[in-house]
Amino acid sequence: MANNPVASILSHHPTLVIDGALATELERRGYDLKDDLWSAKILLEQPEIIKQVHLDYFRAGADCAITASYQATVEGFEKRGLNRIEAIALMQKSVKLAAEARDEFWSDPANRIGRDQPFVAASVGPYGAFLADGSEYRGEYGLSEKELRDFHRPRMKTLIEAGADMLACETIPCLIEAQAIANLLEEFPDTTAWFSFSARDERHISEGQVFAECVKQLEDNSQIAAVGINCTSPVYIPSLIREAAKVTAKPILVYPNSGERYNAETNDWNGNPVVDSFGEQAREWYVAGARLIGGCCRTTPEDIRVIASWARSPRAAENQP
Ligand SMILES: [Zn+2]
Repeated sequence: MANNPVASILSHHPTLVIDGALATELERRGYDLKDDLWSAKILLEQPEIIKQVHLDYFRAGADCAITASYQATVEGFEKRGLNRIEAIALMQKSVKLAAEARDEFWSDPANRIGRDQPFVAASVGPYGAFLADGSEYRGEYGLSEKELRDFHRPRMKTLIEAGADMLACETIPCLIEAQAIANLLEEFPDTTAWFSFSARDERHISEGQVFAECVKQLEDNSQIAAVGINCTSPVYIPSLIREAAKVTAKPILVYPNSGERYNAETNDWNGNPVVDSFGEQAREWYVAGARLIGGCCRTTPEDIRVIASWARSPRAAENQP
């Protein structure tokens, strides 16, 4: 059986707490990320600060760290003037930094009380994140399933070989990309992954396919440890959870953004968060059936701290806000 850290934690706890935004935290600390490949820039120039943000999320209560490899691809790094070997080394570094933060956190016995050992979920961002034109919220790449497999293979291989505990295949806007990644996963039979789509409304993923249909398509793949939605407005989340629950026996995960909207032209976020307290609102997602809960863009360690404060107690989790 492939290593499945999701099943392991959910066998001891009612909820698995995912971390929050990495980029938002880096910006709050004064780093300018208005760059198509901000992750490359920070991995190259300030790796320690990425490790520090991972540590802050573990301290806030996260059971896993999603690595800084969302936009990291050989092609993307090559555009920045790195060669293939350097690009692969940076992806490996994203896993190493998260693992170091986890080991440091776990080495303190005080941090182990009531917790399972956190794990490293290596981010596999969609093809649209590599394009850096906002198409992870649109899809419509015009690529075949095979072309998408070929795109994803080298990074996936690198992240697995670097020692990631599992893969976080995230912000997937279209069914064909989910199928490509699911098929590719079979080339790495000892690895599990979570699959997370971006959605456009209460029932449809970004490109327009019915979310429940997409979930159903992934149901028979035993390497897929959880399915759900990320980087989507919190207002759509309860409905999307209920749609998934009708068709899957896998744990459902949600890590929405704050509800602000991404503007690909300015590399910026517009509007206001739609919920007053993200972490309190998240109880509603637990009640609707989600078992892995965290935050995507614009969420903070404080949001994760609030989720962790109710999520580890089943009775507290069931109490509506
Ligand atoms: Zn996001």
